[in-house]
Amino acid sequence: MKHPMFSEEHELFRNSVRKFVEKELVPHAEEWEEAEDFPNSIFIRMGELGYLGLRYPEKYGGQNGDFLFSVILAEELGRCGMGSIGMAVAVQSEMATPPIFKFGTEEQKMKYLLPANQGKKIACLGITEPNAGSDVAAIQTTARRDGDHWVINGRKIFITNGARADFITLVARTGEKKGYWGFSLFLVDKGMPGFTLTRKLNKVGMRSSDTAELLFEDCRVPADALLGEEGKGFYHIMWELQGERIMAAANAVARAQMAFELARKYSKERVQFGKPLAHFQVTRHRLADMATEIEAARHLTYYCAWLFQNGEYPVKEISMAKLFAAQMGNRVADAALQIFGGYGYMMEYPIQRYWRDIRLSRIGGGTDEIMKEVIANELLGRIKE
Ligand SMILES: Cc1cc2nc3c(=O)[nH]c(=O)nc-3n(C[C@H](O)[C@H](O)[C@H](O)COP(=O)(O)OP(=O)(O)OC[C@H]3O[C@@H](n4cnc5c(N)ncnc54)[C@H](O)[C@@H]3O)c2cc1C
Repeated sequence: MKHPMFSEEHELFRNSVRKFVEKELVPHAEEWEEAEDFPNSIFIRMGELGYLGLRYPEKYGGQNGDFLFSVILAEELGRCGMGSIGMAVAVQSEMATPPIFKFGTEEQKMKYLLPANQGKKIACLGITEPNAGSDVAAIQTTARRDGDHWVINGRKIFITNGARADFITLVARTGEKKGYWGFSLFLVDKGMPGFTLTRKLNKVGMRSSDTAELLFEDCRVPADALLGEEGKGFYHIMWELQGERIMAAANAVARAQMAFELARKYSKERVQFGKPLAHFQVTRHRLADMATEIEAARHLTYYCAWLFQNGEYPVKEISMAKLFAAQMGNRVADAALQIFGGYGYMMEYPIQRYWRDIRLSRIGGGTDEIMKEVIANELLGRIKE
């Protein structure tokens, strides 16, 4: 059923992405997951189709669209049978490049944003470190000014697209100020001396996505690699988190919906005790609960998307949507796998991938616990140390 928030144009876009997903992604899901990789040409193809720069001006390879187009893209990519593509695209278009558009110089926009929107360059975002996960202010990577250069030292971990990326939007400490001040953003090209891919990490799910550990050892970058204002890196990156979390919620809802659909179909086909599983009330009620939860998460997500689209910044509600959609997605995927019984535990049935992939929703983009902290801070105020 068409939601009143979406226009005719949005629905046409949805149909076009759905066709792309069904024709060009779904048939390869198993092969790419098995290979633990998907081809970089997916970025080029999505760039050609205009899917990577939905909200950016045409001048930078974009489509001049609104936020709801990005939500639709996140939902439709959630249907492709593997979580990795939605995640790779979200990093490219919603995490690593927005600060370039908002704070970059014209040269930086032409050098990085334009080719990223065309799919000709792949981007990654480097925040997390071995000793700085939820506690972002603990970042230890430093960038020290040396004449016309910056010298970067440090280590980043869990970086999506990290192995394949042409450049990284990097957060590094440039000052001694405590807390969130004293960080700056840098655009660092692959292949710069001192910038190495240490290892590609082996994950439980999202197998075809590459997740890397990156090392910076006396990596000298020119002064103009600085993105935005020195010392404001953290604030240059944090403003985009809310949009990214709505997208994460939309993607989790879509993947839960797919898991539900697989389970619903299977429940009508699998016969035990002479009847299809869908005949047993426990299965019927389980499916009813799953559908109800999905619908609730979808509407909270849409509500946030609508507010955000209309210029509001509802941090509490967005954190609730991200938290609820992630937990709901995990409950639904688990219930769906249960309906498949032993077959659900077999690699040859796609339901296992939804179950494995969706676990990350409760960790990436801010863990459940951090979402609850944000919500509690909004409800009760921050605790003063
Ligand atoms: C597959 C994958 C892809 C990723 N992609 C990227 C990427 O592209 N770029 C990037 O920069 N990062 C990326 N991340 C990192 C991700 O953002 C972090 O994993 C996440 O923020 C949590 O950090 P952590 O893993 O260090 O866990 P920790 O921060 O060590 O947390 C461990 C546990 O303690 C809890 N906890 C921590 N602090 C508190 C607190 N104050 N109160 C209550 N509980 C707390 C957490 O909720 C969690 O349950 C990715 C991670 C994964 C797994």
